[in-house]
Amino acid sequence: MIYSSEKSKELFHVATNYLVGGVASTIHKAPDEEYPIYAVSGKGSRFIDVDGNEYIDYMGSFGPSILGFSPEAVNKAVYRQIELGTHFALPTESLNELSRKLVELVPCADIVGYQSTGTEANLVALRLARAYTGKTKIIRFEGHYHGWADELYVSAAPSSLKSMGPRSRPWKTLGVPGQPENAGDNLIVLPWNDLDALETALKRHGNDVAGVIMEPIMYNAEPILPLPGYLEGVRKLTARYDAVLIFDEVITAFRLALGGAQEYFGVVPDLSIFAKAVAAGYPLAGVCGKREIMESGAHPAGTFNANPLCVAAALATIEQLEKPGVYEHMSHITGSIKRGVITLGKKYGIKLLCDNQVSVWHLQFGIDAHMRDMRDNFKVDKAAYSWFYKRCLERGVRLHSSRGRFYVSAVHTDEDVRQTLKVFEQVFALM
Ligand code: PMP
Repeated sequence: MIYSSEKSKELFHVATNYLVGGVASTIHKAPDEEYPIYAVSGKGSRFIDVDGNEYIDYMGSFGPSILGFSPEAVNKAVYRQIELGTHFALPTESLNELSRKLVELVPCADIVGYQSTGTEANLVALRLARAYTGKTKIIRFEGHYHGWADELYVSAAPSSLKSMGPRSRPWKTLGVPGQPENAGDNLIVLPWNDLDALETALKRHGNDVAGVIMEPIMYNAEPILPLPGYLEGVRKLTARYDAVLIFDEVITAFRLALGGAQEYFGVVPDLSIFAKAVAAGYPLAGVCGKREIMESGAHPAGTFNANPLCVAAALATIEQLEKPGVYEHMSHITGSIKRGVITLGKKYGIKLLCDNQVSVWHLQFGIDAHMRDMRDNFKVDKAAYSWFYKRCLERGVRLHSSRGRFYVSAVHTDEDVRQTLKVFEQVFALM
């Protein structure tokens, strides 16, 4: 059967009349894609688009779909809550249950607070670090993404190596028109994975530094792992200079382990942020951490904070994730993909890097060793990836539309992997 996405194309052209950019989030469509595919329904690891194509999914809805699409247990919990009421703007008993659960599972969490999105939770974390320390500056790292808000989106997505300035004194790059020139005034931007750079900055500005924020694995842009000893070193330095260490675990929370990256690496921050996978597709996010920091500032209001549907979804999600063998299964699936891709790369003489961490796997063309920081990101052959992505999509494998980082769910199967590798082989043979 010849692949067609004509109906998606048509819908997108209609959408552009009424919806800015034709999509509800800039990354629902890759910059070099003419139009996105339109989803209709999904079950487990697969979904169907408006043209009737079925895809094995590795987008995981940008991370939340850790139980696959339309997970029965979450559906039931949410239906039950719908009958009881979808929103009260009052606490529910279920909220106590969830808070207790999060405190039990997340190593840094003495206590938790809620928002609806990762961006909001990151803003709250910065505010808490400032309230607790009475200091203003925040150290952040090139290429780490903490959300779209003005202060968060500084040096998050530099467009070229040249725009980043010298490594020893990085320039602050603004990301979008309309972001105020002074958005980065209270930030110190550093290259990641460099303890000397952090120590130098803390020596010079320590009296002003309220906090240090990072993704514990740099999963935005193309994935980069912390060098051995790096997170431990950051932990020691931040403690020495009384700066609050914040792990932005929007991606890693519940993806690497029930206790997130802090459990996976055994390095405990002062504050951490959870979002995405915690509620398997419902908008729940928050900050957790040391009681004295969490209680140092006013926690912000939010109409939809801890909406009971999201709380019900999160409780049901965690119950599923706590079942024995779930993380082992996801590691097995991503490990099988990695081994298969490496074998195919060798067979077809394609230079690539493929690796996995529990429910996350990644594939970069043009490099064959792990990178150190955002500056290395420009070595990745993005054009090759974009070509690969489109050929896979036409063959029923849905990858990330603009970067080589992918998710599996607890319900991806060995058969999914077998079919995926078959598609990859067809596409590698064309490369
Ligand atoms: N931090 C990280 C590490 C993220 O990956 C994201 C979203 N991709 C965010 C923050 C922002 O989260 P949200 O899109 O829910 O605002």
